[in-house]
Amino acid sequence: MQNVGIVGAGAAGLATAILLAESGADVVVYEAKPSLGALGSGITMQGNALRAFDRLGVWEQVRARSFSFDVTSIRAPGPEAPLVAEMHDNRMGGPDYPATAGMFRPDLAEIMLARAQALGARIRFGTRVTAVHQDDDGATLVLATDAGTQEATHELVVGADGLNSAVRALIGIETRPEPNGMGIFRAFVARPAGADHTELVFGGPSYIAGFCPTGEDTMYAYLVEDKQDRQGMTPEEGSKLMAELARPYGGHWNAIRAQLEAGVEHVNYTWFTSHVVTEPWNRGRVVIIGDAAHSCPPTVAQGAAQAVEDALVLGDVLARHDGLTEELWAEFHGRRVPRATTVVEASNQITSWLLAHERGDVQGLHTTISELVSREP
Ligand SMILES: Cc1cc2nc3c(=O)[nH]c(=O)nc-3n(C[C@H](O)[C@H](O)[C@H](O)COP(=O)(O)OP(=O)(O)OC[C@H]3O[C@@H](n4cnc5c(N)ncnc54)[C@H](O)[C@@H]3O)c2cc1C
Repeated sequence: MQNVGIVGAGAAGLATAILLAESGADVVVYEAKPSLGALGSGITMQGNALRAFDRLGVWEQVRARSFSFDVTSIRAPGPEAPLVAEMHDNRMGGPDYPATAGMFRPDLAEIMLARAQALGARIRFGTRVTAVHQDDDGATLVLATDAGTQEATHELVVGADGLNSAVRALIGIETRPEPNGMGIFRAFVARPAGADHTELVFGGPSYIAGFCPTGEDTMYAYLVEDKQDRQGMTPEEGSKLMAELARPYGGHWNAIRAQLEAGVEHVNYTWFTSHVVTEPWNRGRVVIIGDAAHSCPPTVAQGAAQAVEDALVLGDVLARHDGLTEELWAEFHGRRVPRATTVVEASNQITSWLLAHERGDVQGLHTTISELVSREP
């Protein structure tokens, strides 16, 4: 493909931009937001995501600005936060990458954007796609900007426009993300000394109380609860609510709670959703990837990893097939739909067990996902 339009500058869109610009295509990314406004929280990235970042040429920068570890601890609620288990995590990307790295999301977005631009991709912020038409010659996007409505025609359009994807609706795919009953508070805080890997507490008033280090001095902490209507909550209100919910948790949560009580700048709240498009992800020369095609609760921390893998496989099939043929799409869907579906189903199963207060074979599911995503996509 010589001329590609990408809708959305999230992980999926920027990964696609990097790969296709690197292969010599003329790439334009249309992003509705006026700038890269990634949510100011953290992200947990497993080894397969880190391996993918290496392929994108950003692993060294990601490594330098993230916090790597190979262990996860499980603790019980209570003032002493008793240790239940300490697990050595599989290195899902292979021995060259740590099992897990935590990172501040805006840092990741900045690194990916810089790489895409260095390779020649053009990013048009403040440009919302509102319609798409296609014929044998190309797909035309209708773009709403402050300067009015414009059009742009591309050989291929990649709809990487997230959960509420406009492109998905515009090409007639009806599958939509559904809330699964849970909501999550996330706060970006200072990392207490000794908090050097993810710790999860199951039980107490929240389903999960967890944290993940993101740098020498930073980490993000989260609490998963039954979903509530918390729209319009200010950071001050979010900090106070989170501090209150965190009261029964001890250990490093004492230091986290003290920060929340004093007020934390980056606090957000969102509902868990789930969906997977099991029919083809393309209509003609328009395809959806990333959260537009699949979403899941972050219980196996694979959402962004799967989004970036979509981009890797799309880049690979485009490089090996001549034109947008049936064979290309069959290979793309054959490599992506089953893998993404397995990840979504496993993530949902874990939240179903949590919602039902059932013990379930969580470890077994983690092993299944670990074996799956260890393999190249
Ligand atoms: C609470 C929570 C925690 C998570 N934690 C993790 C984790 O720890 N690890 C992990 O791997 N994943 C995690 N995920 C999942 C991960 O965040 C997503 O899977 C990933 O960010 C999806 O990337 P994307 O590029 O597909 O979509 P997005 O990042 O949503 O990007 C879509 C972009 O498209 C733009 N856009 C939308 N509509 C239009 C339009 N009409 N025109 C132009 N632009 C448009 C948006 O502004 C946005 O910038 C988590 C998700 C949630 C909800």
